[in-house]
Amino acid sequence: MNEILEALEKTYGPQQATGPTDAYEMIVYLNCGYPASDAWCSKGFDVLKREVGLSPRELLAAPRAKLAKLLRLGGILPDQRAERLQEIARRVKGDYGGDLQAALTGCMQEEKQQPGRGVRAAKKILREFPVIGEPSAEKILLFSKLAPVAAVPSAFVEVPTRLWVGKPGKNYAADYRAARDTLSAGLAETLEARQRAYLLLKKHGQQTCKRSEPKCEICPLTGQCAYIQLQAADRHVV
Ligand code: SF4
Repeated sequence: MNEILEALEKTYGPQQATGPTDAYEMIVYLNCGYPASDAWCSKGFDVLKREVGLSPRELLAAPRAKLAKLLRLGGILPDQRAERLQEIARRVKGDYGGDLQAALTGCMQEEKQQPGRGVRAAKKILREFPVIGEPSAEKILLFSKLAPVAAVPSAFVEVPTRLWVGKPGKNYAADYRAARDTLSAGLAETLEARQRAYLLLKKHGQQTCKRSEPKCEICPLTGQCAYIQLQAADRHVV
């Protein structure tokens, strides 16, 4: 795994995360754009931050129509996203006293006493919010520096699947978990190692190992890739 990540870093250079690194702001960010790409989310998030503010109090005080108008910069369905942002703000204010990070930090204290339990509790909290599934919950834990979870970039699960398994399994959720478990077994259990792997695999999915048609002919990983080995074996059998 290290060899593969080294090769990716040599190809693309060191990667930097985009967007906020506070758990609450990350949830807001993910609800600011649709389709949910970095580009759309950043546009919606930046205008919201500039014109309204991000705190639960500021989001709840803003007229829904104003939020929706601003969120047009973040792509389609702005009314739905405005409604979701106020739902997030209401929940954080009502259920967590306005401080989601503190609630999640409490889960991490629990994690120290009983490994696995605190992370599960934190993911459960995060998944109560709109559009946050298991992949986003794990990304939030990793990039808000709460827990060194081996998160996999949700839009690029096929990258680790091709590299280490060869072909997709039964469904997205199963592939995601298999990829996460592979990374978890192969990477040091540190925030730095797991953030680095996440960002490099994401970049590789954006640039080369494309979902519909991977550009294997220009890929630096053909010698290590299980997908290529499986294809060669299939040709041999035929
Ligand atoms: S060789 Fe092809 S399938 Fe394998 S990682 Fe590279 S682009 Fe993806």
